[in-house]
Amino acid sequence: MESAHIEQLKRDWFKRFDQILEREKSIPSSNLKCLELCQARCCPRAGMRHMQSRDIASPIVVLLPFEMEYIIEKTGVSTELFRIWSIPLDSETTIEVGMLDLGKPCPFLKENLQCGIHDHNPLDCRTFPLLPTLNHRDELEWELGENCPSLSFLNPQFAEKMKHVWLDLVPVLPRAWWDLYAFADHWTGWPVVSERVDAA
Ligand code: SF4
Ligand code: SF4
Repeated sequence: MESAHIEQLKRDWFKRFDQILEREKSIPSSNLKCLELCQARCCPRAGMRHMQSRDIASPIVVLLPFEMEYIIEKTGVSTELFRIWSIPLDSETTIEVGMLDLGKPCPFLKENLQCGIHDHNPLDCRTFPLLPTLNHRDELEWELGENCPSLSFLNPQFAEKMKHVWLDLVPVLPRAWWDLYAFADHWTGWPVVSERVDAA
């Protein structure tokens, strides 16, 4: 019963991810100057450990429920490449949420600092430098990744459309996920590097 419930939830989320990707085709470009201005400082990797915090735009990526499984299905990457955190999805169901951080550098970052799975990368990556948060009244609010060097170029139309994508997720995202997202962003306790220096 439990696994049938999880399978159904997974199918629902996979459908949701397909719909989000389809919807994003009509979202205007973010206009970020990633290639010109940045060394992918929002993509977690081992080399970041030696950087000053002001030079790191986002040291962690938190995936949505079942997004890790979705990416695995689409790209064939191993589960072992993700850090996994368990959260309650509802009163009966605990799920494993995937994360990428300095302890498990992003396996998709290529040597040329491009995203190797651009077509299926996490929504958290595609939304940055916008950072969604849920306030105590369960309303969606936004923070900005202040260390993103192309923040000033961010297209307001892109921001507006992406906010609507997240607004539609609020009813299906449990509070535990928002708590993890908020907690992870301030997390500094990454384990010692055991991975390659070059995560490409
Ligand atoms: S979103 Fe910002 S921090 Fe990330 S690669 Fe682009 S310019 Fe750099
Ligand atoms: S999935 Fe792509 S955009 Fe996201 S952290 Fe990895 S390389 Fe960067």
